[in-house]
Amino acid sequence: LRMVSASPVGNEPVSDEELRPHVLDGFIGQPRLKAQLQLFLDAARKRDVPPDHILLAGPPGLGKTTLAMIVANELGVPIRITSGPAIQHAGDLASILSSLDAGEVLFIDEIHRLPRAAEELLYIAMEDFRVDVMVGKGPGASSIPLTLPRFTVVGATTREGMLPSPLRARFGFTAHLDFYPHEELEKLIERSAAVLGIQLEDGAARQLAMRSRGTPRIANRLLRRVRDWAIVHDLESVRPHDVKEALALYQIDTEGLDRLDIAVLKAIVTNFNGGPVGLNNLAAMVGEESETVETVCEPYLVREGFLIRTPKGRVATRKAWKHLGLTPDDSRFD
Ligand code: ADP
Repeated sequence: LRMVSASPVGNEPVSDEELRPHVLDGFIGQPRLKAQLQLFLDAARKRDVPPDHILLAGPPGLGKTTLAMIVANELGVPIRITSGPAIQHAGDLASILSSLDAGEVLFIDEIHRLPRAAEELLYIAMEDFRVDVMVGKGPGASSIPLTLPRFTVVGATTREGMLPSPLRARFGFTAHLDFYPHEELEKLIERSAAVLGIQLEDGAARQLAMRSRGTPRIANRLLRRVRDWAIVHDLESVRPHDVKEALALYQIDTEGLDRLDIAVLKAIVTNFNGGPVGLNNLAAMVGEESETVETVCEPYLVREGFLIRTPKGRVATRKAWKHLGLTPDDSRFD
């Protein structure tokens, strides 16, 4: 179980629910995106038609599902939730589409993982509000066109580049979610603490925000672990110091790096003198799968400037040496 993973762990899809804001006003941060979406929804409401389809792109845990639910709620329509991997055959999607009510929001998470045939069916449905339903099997099968009421697809993807352009072109509005700056995460943590009934003293939210990798889901998860700490230690309120101690127990440091991130940086610096080192060598040194190192650790380490990828391999930056409390050879970064 990785505390700093941006994807849900354990029973989190369930516990995510209690912390979701239900109206756009309650959605924290991402001001530009909010303003755009507000205008988009207001226009649809004024025209009294379901809005165009919406695509939400960005890393896991940044609020895509939350926004989809807010859209439905703000429009006062029901939402149907599915995901790319849950739809195995085009027929699965056809039956969902043909059961939608007028105006309904259809949320498709991980939309880049829809099977090809479902993708094609989807973009026809999105464009023409029509679905061809297959009746029968084999040579005797025929397709009956079915007209659908107008509805709104909200698609979410962590890999926008993997969406075929005909599908991408069907979305009237695409929003890109970005990692949250510390100040926004602080507000988010304060809001979540209020919902969960946790009393945070000055500076405690800041300590949590620093360690949350720019990701609301991680911030909320760390907050829950801090709540555990407070309960067990009979604390009335949480001081910055308590956050530090609680999260140190989970081996999460001030920059939100966990044990594996640190192991990776240490291996580069101490075993390979700062790099460059190939991914496979590095993974072997820390005893992890290459894929885990590449997809779980590296994106954050690269983004935060601890590591760079070069054609010859991974190199630790000056910031990485410093973070480990080590001094690189003087010549190294000249
Ligand atoms: P995604 O679908 O992008 O993986 P979610 O929408 O499931 O992310 O968000 C994960 C958790 O973080 C949820 O509990 C959600 O309520 C919370 N969250 C995400 N973004 C925000 C935000 N901007 N304001 C408040 N809470 C947020």
